[in-house]
Amino acid sequence: MTTEPQLGGLSTSVDRSALMGNYAAPTVTFVRGQGSILYDAEDRPYLDFLSGIAVTSLGHAHPRITEALAEQAATLSHVSNLFGNTVGPEVAITLDRLIGGGHTRAGGQVFFANSGAEAIECALKLARRWAGPGRAGIVATDNAFHGRTMGALTATGQPSKQEPFRPLPEGFVHVPYGDIDAMDEAIDPDRTAAVLVEPIQGEAGVVEPTSDYLPALRQMCTERGVLLMLDEVQTGLGRTGAWFAFQHQGVAPDVVTMAKALGNGVPAGACWARAEVAAAFQPGDHGSTFGGQPLAMSAVRATLEVMEAERVPERAERAGARLRAGLEALPGVVEVRGKGLLLGAVLAREFAGPACQEALQGGLVLNAPRPDVIRFAPSLLVSDEEIDQALAILGRILARLTAAFGTGEGGPGVGSGSSVRDTGQGPSVDGSTTPEEGRP
Ligand SMILES: *Cc1c(COP(=O)(O)O)cnc(C)c1O
Repeated sequence: MTTEPQLGGLSTSVDRSALMGNYAAPTVTFVRGQGSILYDAEDRPYLDFLSGIAVTSLGHAHPRITEALAEQAATLSHVSNLFGNTVGPEVAITLDRLIGGGHTRAGGQVFFANSGAEAIECALKLARRWAGPGRAGIVATDNAFHGRTMGALTATGQPSKQEPFRPLPEGFVHVPYGDIDAMDEAIDPDRTAAVLVEPIQGEAGVVEPTSDYLPALRQMCTERGVLLMLDEVQTGLGRTGAWFAFQHQGVAPDVVTMAKALGNGVPAGACWARAEVAAAFQPGDHGSTFGGQPLAMSAVRATLEVMEAERVPERAERAGARLRAGLEALPGVVEVRGKGLLLGAVLAREFAGPACQEALQGGLVLNAPRPDVIRFAPSLLVSDEEIDQALAILGRILARLTAAFGTGEGGPGVGSGSSVRDTGQGPSVDGSTTPEEGRP
């Protein structure tokens, strides 16, 4: 096994000619993973501090989830929702308890889907069914990200993603995120069914509103008789240091969507709603062939069991504090946003893209949701050693890029990934740590 990866060999020989061109060509292809480490086809290790964008919260190839999947696959993978299965209802009860903070059930009900966008579609349809005819309005926020299907795309507050696909469903308006006065103006009790917001905007660059935003929204929605729907697809399930991000502010939402980390990599989504709201759905109103099927639900059940046993919210808070402190001390970092292990490092200039490309070459997986923001979403089981290693790799890169791009004066401040060549300073997961060491 290679522990001293060669730099610059990131191109892939995989024939992608039969894949649609909706994704930019990747510079690396991964073939396996273990904990926080991914391996490419040449068996070079990479520290994964993105987790498939907050998906593999328990790391790659977690044995408990592998075991649960194998056992369920050998027992029963799928039956139609025309029939019952034993796993989905059990998972729904656990999720309802986690929405309630972990100890007592919140008293809501769950619809299972297969992705974040599908969880959002459920929320949108539920809101309209609940509000009744004539009250179809949804108020969402600028720069929000809720997914790519037509309804979720319409809720997504990014005109550039929407423009080519018009006409979009009617009834959606967007207001600036974190602006309670704008929300006050946009909500019309006669026309609005629901407000839909992310507790922290992930794709927008890990943007947090002030701590009074959600409580103020809650009060406003209650007064106007409008649903408060929180998109916790990225923030949910321990990542921010609580089971759900709304729990930091102690608000009680009407609807919560979740997905990414739910199955630790097995596709699953869920839409939770307070019982009175959930009751708006009658048989036939909504459905999914795969949603809630035993195979995916067995992965979710195992994921939630491990998450509870490992107390991942507490781990995320503790590890997040270490990562945040380390990032704040790095050259070129002007601010660190986010909570727990969902962090965004705001850079002095727009070199997050080149920084992530260089980090990948150096064996560290990250991404840049904005030209000046690097996002961190490592496994919630990440070790202190792995955090320190990631900080060391990134620190070297940022020192070089800060020197090349400057810290704020003149120049466009945007460059291609090749504007600063790697100087060959050290392999990624270097010889001091074998991939097997430092595992959580
Ligand atoms: C990723 C994401 C979605 C969409 O999830 P998909 O599984 O890609 O459909 C929706 N909302 C938020 C907040 C997300 O981060």
